[in-house]
Amino acid sequence: MSRGHSDQTRLIHAGKTTEPLCRTVGPPVQKGSTVLLPDAASLYDDDNCVTYGRAGLSAQAALSDALAAMEGAVGVSLYPSGLSAISGALLAVLKAGDEVLVVDTVYKPVRRFCDEVLTRFGITVTYYDPLRSPEELVGGASDKARLILMESPGSLTFEMQDVPRIAALARERGILTALDNTWGAGFLFRPLEHGVDLSIQALTKYAGGHSDVFMGSAAARDPALVRRLDDGVHHLGWSVSGEDSYQVLRGLRTLPTRLAAQGEAGLAVAGWLKGQPEVAALHHPALPGCQGHELWARDYSGACGLFAFALKPAPQAAVEAFLDALQVFGLGFSWGGFESLAIWSDPQLKRRRFKRDYGGPLIRLHIGLETPGDLIADLRQGLDAYAKLAG
Ligand SMILES: *Cc1c(COP(=O)(O)O)cnc(C)c1O
Repeated sequence: MSRGHSDQTRLIHAGKTTEPLCRTVGPPVQKGSTVLLPDAASLYDDDNCVTYGRAGLSAQAALSDALAAMEGAVGVSLYPSGLSAISGALLAVLKAGDEVLVVDTVYKPVRRFCDEVLTRFGITVTYYDPLRSPEELVGGASDKARLILMESPGSLTFEMQDVPRIAALARERGILTALDNTWGAGFLFRPLEHGVDLSIQALTKYAGGHSDVFMGSAAARDPALVRRLDDGVHHLGWSVSGEDSYQVLRGLRTLPTRLAAQGEAGLAVAGWLKGQPEVAALHHPALPGCQGHELWARDYSGACGLFAFALKPAPQAAVEAFLDALQVFGLGFSWGGFESLAIWSDPQLKRRRFKRDYGGPLIRLHIGLETPGDLIADLRQGLDAYAKLAG
């Protein structure tokens, strides 16, 4: 602005951003809806430049690149939550008249979206048993089947599916596959390398890692699917902030280290629980003898800190006494953070089509970064409180 302009006009244009003066380890966190274009020709050149901030700026691009490198993806779309990553991916590929096969152990809010939204748009939703063989699942699919949505292991009951086999059989039949890979965190298991078309995760959990940010991602290799996902985000008007993206990218730097520590501590705690007289069964794919252990050993490079165990059947008051006695474990949903959490899961299993006996009241634990000995001592005194009321 020249000195000929008014004080007001000069103030409106003062202090404009310049090129960053120096490089930092992390990306710049840009805040902006308006993007200033270099010339008139760029205004409508959406293919070569960002023309509006909703599409994401430096930090979003850096996070998306890092996730693509981790997952071996051609493109990664970011969503404002893990739930919207799944609903967004479903909306991006399904149309009226299609059928979607959804694993019965799917994250409960996804089930609600399928039942209450997809069905309104003429999409048939069919739930399948996670223990159904891949041959039966894919062989039994109707000609309208467009997509199989898996979650493996299920995040409450931990059934493992043979994801690579399902993906290979589905591909032969021209059916797309998607996996909610929040347990594998995009790191312990890489779905795209195993033939899955859409790798989805709640970054809210392990990638964020500190229980303070919501985000989700969907990754793909096929450029046409990458485009569909991107278009889908655009159509729905979703956007994630630079600060949140920066925070998730920061979490990603320590993801392998945290997963290794929490996975190992989780196995130590699970192994200890197995020997306690109050415990009926363990549900942890990385524990030998549990359902799906062979699949986990074949396909995964490690475990995260999330698993379940069944108390021996007892009145609800005993289950609540166990939870209420815990002092190191917090009582709360979500997982993937640095802190240990516990919940009782049975109330969430009511809407499932395929009922199974898990051995007794089901407790889900998330193992954080505390010392395993302190966690075990906490669980022991919780089990003592349970035993007093279990009779
Ligand atoms: C938490 C979770 C989601 C949803 O993530 P949000 O970011 O909370 O929306 C999806 N799938 C699984 C398995 C989850 O645990």
